[in-house]
Amino acid sequence: MTNLLIDNAFQLEVAAKQIISIESLEDALSLRELQLDSYLVLGSATNMIVDKFYDGTIIKVSMREIEQISEDITSVGAGLSWDKLISYCIDNKLFGIENLTLIPGSVGAAPVQNIGAYGVEVSSVIESVTCYNFSTKQVEILSKAECKFSYRQSIFQSKAYLILSVQFRFSKVFNPNISYPSLLQFLEQESINHDSLSSRQLSSAIQSIRESKLPSPDKIPNVGSIFKNPIVNSDSIDLDFLSGHRWELPEGKTKLSAARLLETVMAGIKIPPSLGFYEKHSLVLINRGGAVFKEVIELLKDIQDEVHGLYGINLEIEPEIVGS
Ligand SMILES: Cc1cc2nc3c(=O)[nH]c(=O)nc-3n(C[C@H](O)[C@H](O)[C@H](O)COP(=O)(O)OP(=O)(O)OC[C@H]3O[C@@H](n4cnc5c(N)ncnc54)[C@H](O)[C@@H]3O)c2cc1C
Repeated sequence: MTNLLIDNAFQLEVAAKQIISIESLEDALSLRELQLDSYLVLGSATNMIVDKFYDGTIIKVSMREIEQISEDITSVGAGLSWDKLISYCIDNKLFGIENLTLIPGSVGAAPVQNIGAYGVEVSSVIESVTCYNFSTKQVEILSKAECKFSYRQSIFQSKAYLILSVQFRFSKVFNPNISYPSLLQFLEQESINHDSLSSRQLSSAIQSIRESKLPSPDKIPNVGSIFKNPIVNSDSIDLDFLSGHRWELPEGKTKLSAARLLETVMAGIKIPPSLGFYEKHSLVLINRGGAVFKEVIELLKDIQDEVHGLYGINLEIEPEIVGS
């Protein structure tokens, strides 16, 4: 057991009844001897908003080893920060995750929502995931197919597993994915030649693009986009007011910009002084200092009510909300 205060990217004051750190497979297996009535698995809490007291056990994986387990497969401990893995891959000429540069968080959380950015999803390089199954109380290796990856989803959202390590099949050949429009535009603006592009250059291009619009949680407490972009039936509402801020999808659906929806209602919303929205990205809620869970939840509810009242559109909260 360690300190009972919990670090979290939104920097709310959060404590828990018990915190367990998992350092090895043996530690994971020792979980079977515990009566875990309520538990919460945490990485770096960059995608979570947690109430001030968690009346249960917080489980954190501290395994951080990077091992080359065969010529093609690299196994990485769940507790390693995602950024460190990016640097390791660039230094060791292992390719495939450059576009995921600067996504905050841990390696263990990456498969949970199948993190993605700039046209690449982490599932494209995952071979298998080693985890402790809370139901069978065994350590199991789930193949990529068993992980059931899809857009921002996987089997791990069922909460049945504690991810201990992730096995990656990185490419030995650099085959960059630069199809994403804002990435292409950046490379053009900076006169970076596509043919001589290196993985380090691609990673720093992504870093520059992200830094120009997203605040680092280390400097400004935040959990990224606070609402998901809603997907609606195209004929269900008059969408003219979102011209330029909506994208047609197959099967008569339309994706709407949550940022734009938010901007249209902000004038009527009372924001407490401890909270605000980042000036370069209207979907990023920031803690200006001293914010408390209740204020965050009330503010998000006010926005949801306003958007629903005006347009009949449901805004879904993106990070996981853990109430007490
Ligand atoms: C500024 C900013 C930008 C972001 N940009 C992106 C982006 O571009 N693309 C994207 O996909 N995401 C993005 N995110 C979201 C976030 O970075 C990812 O969801 C990240 O993977 C969360 O990692 P974490 O370690 O902080 O996980 P946490 O927030 O601690 O946990 C997230 C979820 O994973 C579970 N979990 C964590 N570790 C484990 C484990 N070892 N075993 C089982 N379950 C576990 C938790 O229970 C929880 O359900 C962004 C967040 C921020 C703050």
